Amino acid sequence: QAKASGRNAMRFFDPDMQAAMNARAILESELYKSWERNEFILHYQLQVDSRGIIGAEALVRWQHPRRGLLPPSEFIPQAEETGLILPLGEWVLETACNQLASWALQPETVQLNLSVNVSSLQFCQPDFVEQVISILDRTGANPQRLKLELTESILVHDMDDTIAKMMTLKARGVGFALDDFGIGYSSLYYLKRLPLDWVKIDRSFVRDVLTDNNDATIVRTILLLAKSMGLAVIAEGVETGAQKDFLASHGCTAYQGYLFSRPLPLEQFERFVQPAAGGAV
Ligand code: C2E
Ligand code: MG
Ligand code: MG
Ligand code: MG
Repeated sequence: QAKASGRNAMRFFDPDMQAAMNARAILESELYKSWERNEFILHYQLQVDSRGIIGAEALVRWQHPRRGLLPPSEFIPQAEETGLILPLGEWVLETACNQLASWALQPETVQLNLSVNVSSLQFCQPDFVEQVISILDRTGANPQRLKLELTESILVHDMDDTIAKMMTLKARGVGFALDDFGIGYSSLYYLKRLPLDWVKIDRSFVRDVLTDNNDATIVRTILLLAKSMGLAVIAEGVETGAQKDFLASHGCTAYQGYLFSRPLPLEQFERFVQPAAGGAV
């Protein structure tokens, strides 16, 4: 190791950084192996409205051979830096669309919609639209049941290109949600320009909505704004009945959060929505 010098000279001066770089290098090489070994899976989290279940959000996890089930925060940033997010994102979309197609065959699940998170790197690929359309064709999923969740980070890119891509997919029936709404720099600008169907109120506002006046004001304002712009709203991170009641009293009609269900492996999710098969509803 002492032979390493030159551009690696930093190693000798900052053991913490050395450790961090080692951990990162290990993680990145493991990520590639995990891709070859099919260690990624999707969990499904319920989305409900006042009438019942409307669908689910697909959330990716990494089944790490030693560290167990890892949440996206532990690997999505690295997958984005290394470009692995491209094949991973395509796999997520294809797996989700296969799921939609198979739900369409069962009366208990035929009405389910599925939301899929799309990374900005993925969305900005020139062939993103073709990719989605070919996955829809291949899987036979109903585009009307697919909702793509975008975050503002997508949009720093090229507004006209973003709108054009969204319009092409919307013409097929695909819906769009703006995820984590309210925490970005220019949320209102995007709300005004993008052809969205849904906004998702970020969980950070929902968390303290009962105790923090500013959060309460922001949430009320988002609900008013969305309503007057003709957008549907879903609140994420709803953990208590009191939070849900507050949201409902200000016009929110759709919810996602631990109050209703955690993200679940497929079999558990399906049991949840198919009480006849022995579930919990
Ligand atoms: P997100 O899209 O905003 O997803 C919602 C996150 O909030 C999920 O975290 C979910 O487990 C969590 N959550 C839902 N309800 C509650 C609640 O009541 N309380 C609390 N404390 N948390 C709740 P998760 O699964 O760890 O995912 C984190 C983020 O990772 C997602 O945020 C999304 O941005 C990203 N992500 C997940 N799956 C994918 C994917 O397939 N592709 C891409 N590009 N990103 C993904
Ligand atoms: Mg999301
Ligand atoms: Mg979100
Ligand atoms: Mg979030």
